[in-house]
Amino acid sequence: MVAEAHGGRLRRAVLAAEEAARLEREVAEGLVPVLDVPASVAYDVAHLGTGLYSPLTGPLDEAGLAAVLATGRLPDGLPWTVPILLPVAERLAASDRVAIAHGGRLLARLDGARSYTFPHAELARGLYGTLDPAHPGVRRLLAQPDTYLTGTVAVVARPWSDPLDLDPSETRAALAARGWRKVAAFQTRNAPHIGHEYVQKTALSLVDGLLLNPVLGPKKAGDFADAAIVAAYEALIRHYYPPGTVLLGTVRYAMRYAGPREAVHHAIMRKNLGCTHFIVGRDHAGVGDFYPPYAAQAIFADYPDLGIEPLCFGEFYHCRRCGTITNERVCPHPPTDREPFSGTAVRRFLTGGGGDAAAHLRPEVLAALGSVAEPFVAPEAGNEPGTA
Ligand SMILES: [Zn+2]
Repeated sequence: MVAEAHGGRLRRAVLAAEEAARLEREVAEGLVPVLDVPASVAYDVAHLGTGLYSPLTGPLDEAGLAAVLATGRLPDGLPWTVPILLPVAERLAASDRVAIAHGGRLLARLDGARSYTFPHAELARGLYGTLDPAHPGVRRLLAQPDTYLTGTVAVVARPWSDPLDLDPSETRAALAARGWRKVAAFQTRNAPHIGHEYVQKTALSLVDGLLLNPVLGPKKAGDFADAAIVAAYEALIRHYYPPGTVLLGTVRYAMRYAGPREAVHHAIMRKNLGCTHFIVGRDHAGVGDFYPPYAAQAIFADYPDLGIEPLCFGEFYHCRRCGTITNERVCPHPPTDREPFSGTAVRRFLTGGGGDAAAHLRPEVLAALGSVAEPFVAPEAGNEPGTA
């Protein structure tokens, strides 16, 4: 039995072939206006159709947005922490139906479309807790219009074709086929070092299976590239996990860096994928020092009705005194005895900056990263607008 979807039922709205063809015709004849959206918005639109954002049926309206910001809940009281919005350059003249495209490819139909404006400052304060433009989420927000479309979304197609992409129905079917009753999800934007592996395996000792769920999509220059993350996880799973205990599936998503609020949002997405538990690490979805390191764990106390259990972990490190890999919840020794695992050290080593990656990574993972032509997002290809 996989977990119930958020709000009770998976909301799935995918246009049948003939409806999609009709939308294509209407667009070609100029009967329906087309809104071409950037990747980050396209992902959200697709997730509204596939049910990753169940029970939402479309981008939030102003009442929904105000409720989410003020209470961390939808107007009916259901937990919801990150507003799903569809920014548009200008208010829409009355047009009931809008086609949404990405890169010229038709993505979805928005019915009952209507626009409204909402002040950037109120949105930034509510979502990020700051108006500081040094925060990448605030910077991105300030660069976009303050006008939003709402309505009901039905999707035509996924705007991407990742080999390991699993939408909620597919993930739920895969979990059910494995017979797992308790499944812990781990979200990541990094190639796994040994500290990540220990977090995952500590969780795995409590549940039937793990959903390892790398986030693909826009990243900052210097981040691990999507292909490198996937190759690294494939190597780790092949060599270090018991067969049949891990499902590897990717998800397209643009990080908000909203810290605690985003940690709850990530948990809701995994609930909709059928998971019963969600792993929350130190400074989950944080950036810089905008959020206290464990705020993303503490916020779950406000959501006893969330319907997915957080598994909260401290950082794992090697402790010289304990003589083992451990974490600050169980090891009493001071930081001077600790040898932390570091993605930064791995990056330095792989870019020829010296040091030793072997202390941080499994050799097979290192080899997998070495086999990827471009393991990092190049500076000129830094494709996440507004994040330097
Ligand atoms: Zn110790």
